[in-house]
Amino acid sequence: MAYDKENIFAKILRGEIPCDKIYEDDYVLSFRDIRPQAPSHALIIPKGEYVDINDFSANASDHEIVGFNKAISKVADMLGISESSGGGGYRLIANAGKDAHQEVPHLHFHLLAGRPLGPMVFREKQEYK
Ligand code: AMP
Repeated sequence: MAYDKENIFAKILRGEIPCDKIYEDDYVLSFRDIRPQAPSHALIIPKGEYVDINDFSANASDHEIVGFNKAISKVADMLGISESSGGGGYRLIANAGKDAHQEVPHLHFHLLAGRPLGPMVFREKQEYK
């Protein structure tokens, strides 16, 4: 899929619409999700134009990949959600494509925390015989 420069996160990166910023450096921007799914719900996005994690891991530079990954622990520690910063831990989610229900076509990691988060994915009830 070609990158859509008019997606909402591209507009946030260009400063055209506001965000509740948590952290920013040369490689990433992190801000709070507008519809939080947990008491703490942060998003981390790369500054480069990547549709999803598949695009990013195939095409981003080593500097971008390292910068993006290092931002995860920075944000988790800043929010106090990592166990090493006294929190209860967090879940990191990256939706890629339609089956994963990706809504915004600019790579983003969700950091969810602040309560027990339950099973990793929805499962149909199963019968074991
Ligand atoms: P996904 O389904 O993984 O693409 O998630 C997109 C996320 O972006 C959702 O959790 C939305 O609540 C969030 N979102 C959409 N618009 C904004 C915005 N303007 N500021 C912050 N988060 C947003």
